[in-house]
Amino acid sequence: MKEACGVFGVYAPGKAVAQLTFDGLYALQHRGQESAGMAVSDGETITVVKDMGLVTTVFDERTVSCLPGHLAIGHTRYSTTGASEWRNAQPVFRAVGRAGFALGHNGNLTNTARLAEAAGMLPGVVASDSDLVAELLATRIPPPPGDRSGAHTDLEGDLDGGAGAGDGLAVVDDALEDALREVLPLVEGAFSFVLLDASHLVGVRDPTGLRPLCLGRLGPPEAPEGWVLASETPALDIVGAAFVREIDPGEMVIVDGKGVRSERLFAPERIDPHLCIFEFVYFARPDSRLFGREVHSARRRMGELLAEQAPVAADLVMGVPESGVPAAEGYARKSGIPHGQGLVKNRYIGRTFITPGQEARDLGVRRKLNPLRDNIVGRRIVVVDDSIVRGTTQRAVVRMLREAGAAEVHLRISSPPLSWPCFYGIDIPDRDELVAAEHSVEEIAAFLNVDSLAYLSLENLVAAIDSPGAGFCAACLTGDYPVPVPVEMRSGRPRAEPATATA
Ligand code: SF4
Repeated sequence: MKEACGVFGVYAPGKAVAQLTFDGLYALQHRGQESAGMAVSDGETITVVKDMGLVTTVFDERTVSCLPGHLAIGHTRYSTTGASEWRNAQPVFRAVGRAGFALGHNGNLTNTARLAEAAGMLPGVVASDSDLVAELLATRIPPPPGDRSGAHTDLEGDLDGGAGAGDGLAVVDDALEDALREVLPLVEGAFSFVLLDASHLVGVRDPTGLRPLCLGRLGPPEAPEGWVLASETPALDIVGAAFVREIDPGEMVIVDGKGVRSERLFAPERIDPHLCIFEFVYFARPDSRLFGREVHSARRRMGELLAEQAPVAADLVMGVPESGVPAAEGYARKSGIPHGQGLVKNRYIGRTFITPGQEARDLGVRRKLNPLRDNIVGRRIVVVDDSIVRGTTQRAVVRMLREAGAAEVHLRISSPPLSWPCFYGIDIPDRDELVAAEHSVEEIAAFLNVDSLAYLSLENLVAAIDSPGAGFCAACLTGDYPVPVPVEMRSGRPRAEPATATA
């Protein structure tokens, strides 16, 4: 499984916003490794730099230092719709209005085809759902000056007092906000957007709250020096921003010289939040906070409940690095079985080319993981992992442990069986490739060649997260989709073009 993207935005006059954006994207690298980019505004001009590759491949000191401005957005991408190629790297830019605007998107829309058709766009005009939203916004933004009829002059507030932000009087136009108010009610599915024009930073979260987005503050509460938007809280930590709150489902926040404004005009009806539950299981960094809960402690609790739900006599509990490790800690703590390392992960693993077939997949696992034989030989091992997709990775891990001399291998999974595809931006295969879609737990255990297999129940998964007021999407576990998925999408799911490489 792969996450769809990470987004970041900052409004901070007088600060090196490109450097802050670089740091924020670096903290969000796990959410997408195919491409990275940022758009920076100095109040007059927006400059976009983006390319294929990791954040540190796309940006170096020289590039970042050449991007002066007082507001910026950034994006790391993993493609779930649209090919993995340069033209789909984000931020998406449109040269309309006073200085243009740029957009970064995390999530997948469910009505892209219908929206494009309704707008009279020919196939191929837009490259992805994010590109479609940019196009719809662009058609609603009026032409730029000499016609300033759509703009007003405003005395900008404290935040614009710094260098690079303009001095005092600045022309502020609301064309992007107005366009968003028209377009956002048309858009369905999963979206956390960050946008900027010359003088505004905007953050938007879809009415169901499927993908995360949070707000942070630079400087003390009584004298803010800037504002930050990010997919996850570690991106706030890395730039020294204090967590303020999560953006509400259906909320649009606008940051400019006057401070932070919030509105929910595009989604006035409040819906219970449905954050992707796999953010807690797998996607989010362990040091992220979601719904006020640290992800690492939720994962450890998943392991504790798994130990209560599916105990087994064993000598060692080990997690599959790295996302299985916190749940393994919890399993060990609850069961009293010693926790230890059984596999070492190559820290420097990057993109490895794969070819189809079991042998090649085994090689992929061997490149990533290697057994610690002294910890394994002759022992009954409990292996804890976060999820099973096709089962090929776990099968290779089990084979590796048995070859290293394990006496028994018991597999414990800190989420329920993954049986349905995701239409909201996570790259989960179709049902015919999901091992749990058509097979019982016993059949999967036989396929994986384990001595026993157990999954955490959905009830216990939610209990482990233990966040009052939290609501979740668990559609890939239950088949119950919180945002309706059109029939044509279910039958011909938009997917990224076949990847030649995987992280
Ligand atoms: Fe997350 Fe699964 Fe819902 Fe997709 S279907 S948003 S992966 S919980």
